Amino acid sequence: MNASLQPVNLSQAAPRQAKIDLAACHRLGVHFGLHEGIDNHLTVLVPGHRDRFYLAPFGLHWSEVRASHFMEVDFDDRVIAGAGPVEDTALHIHAPVHRLSARATCVLHTHMPYATALSMLENPRLEMAVQTALGFYDDIAYDADYNGLALDHREGERMAAVLGQKSVLLLGNHGVLVIGATIPEAFERLYFFERAAQAQILALSTGRPLRLIPEDVVRRTAAQFNEGGNVGGQPRPELHFAALKRMLDRREPDYAT
Ligand SMILES: [Zn+2]
Repeated sequence: MNASLQPVNLSQAAPRQAKIDLAACHRLGVHFGLHEGIDNHLTVLVPGHRDRFYLAPFGLHWSEVRASHFMEVDFDDRVIAGAGPVEDTALHIHAPVHRLSARATCVLHTHMPYATALSMLENPRLEMAVQTALGFYDDIAYDADYNGLALDHREGERMAAVLGQKSVLLLGNHGVLVIGATIPEAFERLYFFERAAQAQILALSTGRPLRLIPEDVVRRTAAQFNEGGNVGGQPRPELHFAALKRMLDRREPDYAT
């Protein structure tokens, strides 16, 4: 089915809530050190639409992004609501991935340090050597063709093709792109991918070899990850994201304004 004909995820129903949650992603990116300067972009489809997304104006530090800041941008690079500077690579990467990947309601692109360090290695694979990594078994696409800055939509289309059905695209010599059917799901993947990459880089920094987990245990545990997605009837990513937002509510409640 053409992605544009698929129903929008109902958990994203309220535009207001989507903006609050996307603002939270920016603040949490700073909290966890996933940001780099004022670059990189975090976007989500406008609820009820498959052809436009929310984007923060370029120039804001992620620590100052608020729910009321977001612009609506369509796939032809037009700002159709809100106002502010639009940075070209946001259009060139995010618009094609939103358009071409059916599950890409939310698209998070960062140069977060440990995933980026991994992307620089001759063999950039996330090894199945720690429990956190097992949650990403068979869910990471690797792009080995770093091609310079994303100067037009063709680069985002190329990235979407390499991503395929996975939720993580490790961009060689560059960073990472993570998608999700919801904002909590995408942020959960982003956060835990960085944690798994951090564990691997720290382990390798000892100069001693990794001890890989046997393939049958990897497969069995990956299945357990997939089956254990709910706790008390609620998806783990939503519980995690709600807890993180409560932290923001205590420390910097203006994100939701
Ligand atoms: Zn980038």
